[in-house]
Amino acid sequence: MAKPSPPLSLAIVGSGIGGLALAIGLLKVGVPCTVYEGAARFDSDAIGAGIGLGPNSMKAIELMDERFAQLYDEVKVGNKAPEKIHEQIEILGAEEGFGALTGWTGGSVGHPEFTRSSAHRKALLDTMKSLIPEGTVKFNKRVVSLNQERSTKVEFEFGDGERIKVDAVIGCDGIKGMTRREVLESRFPEEVPAKYCNEYVYRAITSMENAKGILGTHAENAEWFMMESKGVAMYQISKGAELNVVVFVEDKKPWQGEQVATEVTREAMMADLEGFDKRLLKLMDYAKPMKWPLFHHSDTPTYYKGRICLLGDSAHASSPSQAAGAGQGLEDALILSKLLGLVNSPDELDVAFQVYDSIRRPRAQRIVQESKVVGEGYFLTHPKFGHDLQKVTDDANERLPKIWWHGLAADLKAAELDFKRLVGTPVKDEVQKG
Ligand SMILES: Cc1cc2nc3c(=O)[nH]c(=O)nc-3n(C[C@H](O)[C@H](O)[C@H](O)COP(=O)(O)OP(=O)(O)OC[C@H]3O[C@@H](n4cnc5c(N)ncnc54)[C@H](O)[C@@H]3O)c2cc1C
Repeated sequence: MAKPSPPLSLAIVGSGIGGLALAIGLLKVGVPCTVYEGAARFDSDAIGAGIGLGPNSMKAIELMDERFAQLYDEVKVGNKAPEKIHEQIEILGAEEGFGALTGWTGGSVGHPEFTRSSAHRKALLDTMKSLIPEGTVKFNKRVVSLNQERSTKVEFEFGDGERIKVDAVIGCDGIKGMTRREVLESRFPEEVPAKYCNEYVYRAITSMENAKGILGTHAENAEWFMMESKGVAMYQISKGAELNVVVFVEDKKPWQGEQVATEVTREAMMADLEGFDKRLLKLMDYAKPMKWPLFHHSDTPTYYKGRICLLGDSAHASSPSQAAGAGQGLEDALILSKLLGLVNSPDELDVAFQVYDSIRRPRAQRIVQESKVVGEGYFLTHPKFGHDLQKVTDDANERLPKIWWHGLAADLKAAELDFKRLVGTPVKDEVQKG
């Protein structure tokens, strides 16, 4: 297919998982792009230092670029126990005895065709970086204003005063990204700010040696310890050398002040965890007393406006109960990169964004909304499940396969057909029938 000449000028704002994945996808289909990152370097200390990727994420990266999948294979780690390889998480009680005192022996969330995999966020970002030529990502380039009023080009300005014009901007600038404001403010101003999920987290990472000293073999397999309004999720990262720990606390009150992490005293943090088994409390020796509030974009009425399009958390930031947020960004990147690979002239960009929105938004927003409900289940405060760990386990086993085995290849095919139909490219007979 003929490529536009001169080539499209595409700017990706943000070099998180979403922005880098899109760059990898675009490079694969031969579409040049530049990534503008506000920070001085790649972010390896973001909230959620560990990242678990399900089969849908794996499929997305494999369809995007096989090398990506191969490289991720080298940094990922699963559960240690052979009988737990197909388990995403084991559900246990968080109180003394992990539920054994009430006869609970653990609920297995998984599937015979699921293989657990997670990595340190830094390792995933390093893998992605290695697939992107030097110079594609420009650091210290914080976008401070965007303007697409007067022309079909988007003009934008950086904090250092430089201004550039491009054919389109893909906003991969995260949950509080300014591109979200540009896309939504004039039509849906109430949807610009992220909404509080009524929960916050504490985080810890410790060596596997420390973790095993405290938890024994529990440390080697992904576990979620639950009690009312609080819980601890943990899994191996760094090829099994470290344990990633996230403590969730339900918070019925509105979040006060800025949407940023706040330091608390160690005493305040420990008071939040009252009732935990003492092994879980001991793990908190390795946690910073830092409260990270969780926000999400439960409703996003559109993912684009003119030549600005949203991808990843700027479009659909999610609470992390289903460990699916980054995976949705990977799916976005797959679909959008393939669509942009079909674009023959800047006029067709609007069609590419329209088709992307129609395919990606319903699924991604559904997952955001469900993750909030799952979170309530995991806090044992959902009216349907209450404290019944078996019901919580059964619900997760019903929901997660719908995320994991989504038809991404069919989405790609539908995207291609819709795009060609809308730009008037003849669609081959056999494709129409299929
Ligand atoms: C506790 C927790 C656990 C999680 N666990 C999982 C999990 O197991 N599996 C999973 O799939 N997902 C998980 N997630 C979700 C996942 O972390 C996010 O969905 C993902 O990291 C979002 O990536 P992103 O690239 O869209 O945004 P970000 O990672 O936020 O990247 C945005 C980038 O844009 C840059 N930027 C922002 N503004 C500008 C600007 N104006 N100019 C230039 N650059 C800018 C930022 O510096 C940053 O580098 C978890 C989330 C949390 C909170």
